[in-house]
Amino acid sequence: MIDRYSRQTLFPGIGEEGQRKLGNSCVVIIGCGALGTIIATSLVRAGVGKTRIIDRDFIEYHNLQRQVLFNEEDIKAELPKAIAAERHLKKVNSSVEIEGVVSDVNYTNIERLVAGADLILDGLDNLETRLLINDVSLKLQIPWIYGGVISSYGMTMNIIPHETPCFRCLQAGPISRGIALTCDTAGVISPAPFIIGSLQTAEAMKILVGAEAINRDLTMIDAWKDEFNRFKISRRTDCPACRGEYQFLEARFGTRATSLCGQNAVQVLNPEVREVSFETLAKHLGPLGEVNYNEFMLRFRVDNHEMVIFPDGRAIVKNTDEAIARGLYAKYIGA
Ligand SMILES: [Zn+2]
Repeated sequence: MIDRYSRQTLFPGIGEEGQRKLGNSCVVIIGCGALGTIIATSLVRAGVGKTRIIDRDFIEYHNLQRQVLFNEEDIKAELPKAIAAERHLKKVNSSVEIEGVVSDVNYTNIERLVAGADLILDGLDNLETRLLINDVSLKLQIPWIYGGVISSYGMTMNIIPHETPCFRCLQAGPISRGIALTCDTAGVISPAPFIIGSLQTAEAMKILVGAEAINRDLTMIDAWKDEFNRFKISRRTDCPACRGEYQFLEARFGTRATSLCGQNAVQVLNPEVREVSFETLAKHLGPLGEVNYNEFMLRFRVDNHEMVIFPDGRAIVKNTDEAIARGLYAKYIGA
């Protein structure tokens, strides 16, 4: 024990006392892609007592370019990310608890999944689940660390419930966008998540050991342009979450998926996506699959899936179940 963490306890910011606090801590990492794998491997190595890793996906070859915990054997074994992460990390540090949970995080299960956590870490690729984390964080008074990456840039911010601005304060005004870029449409290079995941890890260690100098700004980086910036964010007086209205947790917002009876198809609705530009969407989706559209609908075929998207943002996904349909919507339409 002493040997394992000796280089870390020598560091004055942590010391023996900080190491004990890390050992008594429980963190929940939601999303185990590039950010999640960096954070999980770092915190397990650092001796965080209990780490729960939640992810709904399996590993694919295009993940290996940046998702450092996984390898080709995991793909051949058809392992979910959460299970592969748990197995690899148990070999790294057998003295701590590591739990992989294969699950889609949504308003029905998030309170149970984060119960008992001292800190929640965001390794997600979609805005909607972050808004859900934000609600549950403020409701249960569990701090969380936002992290997001795309292309060569990324951002991160600590959210300490009722102390710092929250994630909805950061989202200026009502959330209303036609389409958001995602890693699946815009790509991503590994230095961006490596930097953001490392910044999240450092802040996590600081929060867990009770360091005073945590970052209270929004940090933005561009790994390709070598740009690092910090921005002051203010708490919004009209922020529903800060006022105790947990609209995402109460499912007043968010993506709804409904199986269409007798059609073997799922309809996906997201109230925040009110208008979709087919021209823009076709430009993003074109390189990824087969796209054709007219003024009434856009048809997109990719990996044996077929999605039909309507101008109001509604989508019908064929031959699939509700969880996969929601996942495809988050991946390709955004939100
Ligand atoms: Zn707020």
